[in-house]
Amino acid sequence: MIKVDLHVHSCFSDGSETPEFLVEYSRKVGLDLIAITDHDTSEGAIRVRGKALLGQEVTTEHGHVVIICNFPPDPPRRLYDLLDYADQNSCVLFPSHPFDVTRAGIGKVIFQIIDRIKFVEIYNSKAPPSSNGKAKNLAVSKGLIGLANSDAHVKEALGSAYNLVDSEARPEDVLEALLKGKVEPVPVGLSAKAKLSIVKWYFVRKLRLAENPCRTLCEM
Ligand SMILES: [Zn+2]
Ligand SMILES: [Zn+2]
Repeated sequence: MIKVDLHVHSCFSDGSETPEFLVEYSRKVGLDLIAITDHDTSEGAIRVRGKALLGQEVTTEHGHVVIICNFPPDPPRRLYDLLDYADQNSCVLFPSHPFDVTRAGIGKVIFQIIDRIKFVEIYNSKAPPSSNGKAKNLAVSKGLIGLANSDAHVKEALGSAYNLVDSEARPEDVLEALLKGKVEPVPVGLSAKAKLSIVKWYFVRKLRLAENPCRTLCEM
């Protein structure tokens, strides 16, 4: 079994680190593989092709949905189009923090697409216990495969949740194993250090974007 985090942000969206650094650092904290899932861009994922899973956290009209493919995805944003895209390209798709509606979870819309999805994020390190609990109950009652991810935007959050996957640590093998359901979620929780780092990053990011609104965080 290998340890895989399927939801990580780099500086190509709103994370603090480069994709290259995240791949390296994740190994230091004991993860075998991570997915780079920036908001609405595969630019960061492309940089670590072959060394990480390639994904995006797509901002659909109803909220956040993560998609991970065997290639850097260029997915449509409309929810039903995204579901079709995932089916057609054998991608893993899951609503992220679905019941954390203050952070753009898709909320009740998940019930409309329940027959179209196979996975759901049942533990997101940044989501409150109540919304993670709701997602877990949904997975149990509807027979969905539950996933646990860090949703890391800072390096200290890596390792705060992961999935045990029965696979070799190659991205294409992991994707195949996931689609076969050979996965078990492991919620851990954020350390005090990680929580502090998340708060600090929130303010540093705001400041940097205010100073340089036209540049990505990677360039600052
Ligand atoms: Zn999200
Ligand atoms: Zn996220």
